[in-house]
Amino acid sequence: MSKYQSINPYTNETIAQYDLTSQKKVEESIALSHALYRKWRHESPASRSYTLKNIADSLRKNKNNLAKTMTQEMGKLITESKAEVELCANICDYYAEHGPQMLKPVELPTALGQAYYLKKATGVILACEPWNFPLYQIFRVFAPNFIVGNPVLLKHAHNVPSSALFAEKIVKRSGADEGSLLNLFVDYSTLDKIISDKRIAGVALTGSERGGSSVAMTAGKNLKKSTMELGGNDPFIVLSDADSKTLKRCLADARTFNSGQVCTSSKRIIVVKDRYQEVLTDLKEIFSHLRPGNPLDESTTLAPLNSQSAKEKLEKQVQVAINAGAKVEYQYPEIDSSAAFFRPTILTNIKKENPIYDEELFGPVAEVFCVEDEDEAIELANDSSFGLGSSIISCNIGKAQDLAQQLETGMTVINSRWITAPELPFGGVKKSGYGRELSELGLNAFVNEQLVIDMSK
Ligand code: NAP
Repeated sequence: MSKYQSINPYTNETIAQYDLTSQKKVEESIALSHALYRKWRHESPASRSYTLKNIADSLRKNKNNLAKTMTQEMGKLITESKAEVELCANICDYYAEHGPQMLKPVELPTALGQAYYLKKATGVILACEPWNFPLYQIFRVFAPNFIVGNPVLLKHAHNVPSSALFAEKIVKRSGADEGSLLNLFVDYSTLDKIISDKRIAGVALTGSERGGSSVAMTAGKNLKKSTMELGGNDPFIVLSDADSKTLKRCLADARTFNSGQVCTSSKRIIVVKDRYQEVLTDLKEIFSHLRPGNPLDESTTLAPLNSQSAKEKLEKQVQVAINAGAKVEYQYPEIDSSAAFFRPTILTNIKKENPIYDEELFGPVAEVFCVEDEDEAIELANDSSFGLGSSIISCNIGKAQDLAQQLETGMTVINSRWITAPELPFGGVKKSGYGRELSELGLNAFVNEQLVIDMSK
């Protein structure tokens, strides 16, 4: 059986399967992308802007088909898939417009001579990506590195191979040099060999702790730079003075967007006691109004999970939580379907001893905690192995900013649920990984900041 398969989690049909890329093709791909890096070294970042704009246009032109491919492969709502394509196009536009300026040499004041550092490409980057945003995950690595001059080899998740091929085709058809983005269907041992190859300069992985630690270990062993964008157990803190309308708006899809399969989804909802009942009521109303159905149908609001195995894993985790004392505050009625639907669930009474207290639940499960005050909220929020995103809902922006400063997370959003935008850095601390993607920080992830100093005087 092929490792790389597209299985529609709504119909359970196998749509496509792909053989592993041959060793010969893997070698040719590394050679091609490395040769391209050597060619790009003699060209300016601005010389690639036009092509990146073309890629953005091509993404928009192919929006419907790309969106359909993603929805069929991993089940997300078609409206969310279309928005994802638009986001990818915006990422390309952003780096096409701003990337060259951000890569200009930087002057360094020193009494020792005239000094500056260059921002140069380093070589071929291996992007190892997850299935939850099949296109966005590719473009947040590809677009900045394309402008920098680092070609990208892609190893996508085994369950979204058609999206991987579609992305590769879009880049190729938009006039990008051969080798700018090459997809590889490889197993883990081949992946290790690729990372070890001296022509590979760095590795960007988005995924779980399991995938992250394995790939980071190989990168570390070979002294390759890496960025790790891993899981999260994001706190969503509701303070006493939260505006009710804002709260409702933020809660609306904080835990159900992408069927809750978002690294920065608001998994732990931490509420100061005088707003606790209100939050539970809001969440129950939101969850009970969801409409499961075909994710290709624009009126569906609850999509299946990405696979039957994801559904089984989440069911087991929730059962473990319940066995350890968690209370089921709400559970969506049984869904009469063989699709990978997970019944949206609200859990309370999750004590520190509960095995899921420090685990990521990847699906529409809200863990709601009641706390005495904001100090306890921060303490609970930080009592996690993860440190990706966080939200604070409050009318007092000064206080929210002070509390943000106390949170051990890579990102904090005030009065909204999680967000992402091309110009904003994305990433975490602790077991949520290291390094940043997007923004100028993401552009610099695989740049050689080369010092040049003229000391002749
Ligand atoms: P995953 O199992 O770690 O897979 C991610 C990628 O790594 C896939 O391409 C996978 O390939 C590969 N991989 C997994 N184990 C590997 C190993 N031992 N050696 C080499 N490669 C390996 O993660 P996932 O379950 O697909 O994705 C969900 C996770 O990603 C969640 O934890 C989520 O929070 C996290 N995530 C984080 C961010 C962020 O920006 N921080 C964004 C999105 C998702 P195969 O598919 O072939 O196994």
